[in-house]
Amino acid sequence: MSGRTKNGNSSSDETSRLVDRFGREVSYLRMSVTDRCDFRCVYCMDEEMTFVPREQVLTLEELLQIADAFVSLGVKKIRLTGGEPLIRTNVTKLCRDIANLDGLDELVMTSNGSQLPRLAGDLKEAGLKRLNISLDSLKPERFKQLTRTGDVAQVLSGIDAAKAAGFDKIKLNAVILRGRNDDEIEDLVAFAIAKQLDISFIEEMPLGVISEHSRAESFMSNEDVLARLQQTWTLSEVAGRATDGPSRYHSIAETQTRVGFISPHSHNFCGDCNRVRLTAEGRLLLCLGHEHSVDLRAVVRANPGEQAPLVQAIVNAMDLKPERHFFDHSNEPDIVRFMSMTGG
Ligand code: SAM
Ligand code: SF4
Repeated sequence: MSGRTKNGNSSSDETSRLVDRFGREVSYLRMSVTDRCDFRCVYCMDEEMTFVPREQVLTLEELLQIADAFVSLGVKKIRLTGGEPLIRTNVTKLCRDIANLDGLDELVMTSNGSQLPRLAGDLKEAGLKRLNISLDSLKPERFKQLTRTGDVAQVLSGIDAAKAAGFDKIKLNAVILRGRNDDEIEDLVAFAIAKQLDISFIEEMPLGVISEHSRAESFMSNEDVLARLQQTWTLSEVAGRATDGPSRYHSIAETQTRVGFISPHSHNFCGDCNRVRLTAEGRLLLCLGHEHSVDLRAVVRANPGEQAPLVQAIVNAMDLKPERHFFDHSNEPDIVRFMSMTGG
């Protein structure tokens, strides 16, 4: 599968757009390239995880074929995520091939940053446009506790490597757990300001059964995070959406840093949701908070080398996209799959 590259070679003439039953156009695909990870963040995974058998994970060729089908249907933005996308072998080649698809505006990635000291330059050169890097603590011991295996020094040098490679508009993602890292909210923002990065705070979502902590007790709302920040900085809400992602942004006076808030519990991003997700084993998820899915791997493997059945399956899947999700933050998981399977 060579894909419709920017220098010709169209493998599909499909020009229709993806529109769901509620009139929302899908222009953004988040692809999990692996469910595996070098970290075991306490809100994301259990200590002992069972991963998808390798033969069930999409190959790099299949990932490219599916990306190509989406781009042919009008998708403009693709985010590679996981698991940890940078531990997938040959991920930089996949980046180069996807970035070259004719019609795609931007290829971006969410990463834990651990492999960036090694890969940042290659990723930039491959055509990756932007990086979101997860960082929940600046304290080495706490970082180790929250990630179970991670080394914060490696992530911090990954951030520096990404800046040195020429990535701009890098955004940090921080999940705040009450009683665990909420005392670092200001320090994380001060770090973002010092490094001229943006930062988003993400409310913990009830995805997957975890035993390490009570999600109900650790839940901290973004309203509380915002109230804390307002005691130190002057924040002004940025009108409209600064990106087509789910963050609401505030600028911080006299800095270049914007603070984003991703608040799934307040449903604030359903009404104009423009995205769908692909799991590492090829399930197309129409909504983060629902189990509706379509098995695109089965379509790809049943029709080797053929793009039309895949394109049709994606068009048909739009009818399954629900209007909204309903998360609550009691201890019961609404969804049994982990964020690492979903492609966060
Ligand atoms: N491994 C990469 C990383 O950590 O950035 C990409 C995948 S990770 C699943 C994507 C994002 O989801 C991370 O920012 C992580 O903090 C967030 N995340 C994982 N589990 C979550 C949960 N239960 N609630 C809220 N955010 C979660
Ligand atoms: Fe890995 Fe990202 Fe999940 Fe942490 S949040 S365990 S880094 S996939």
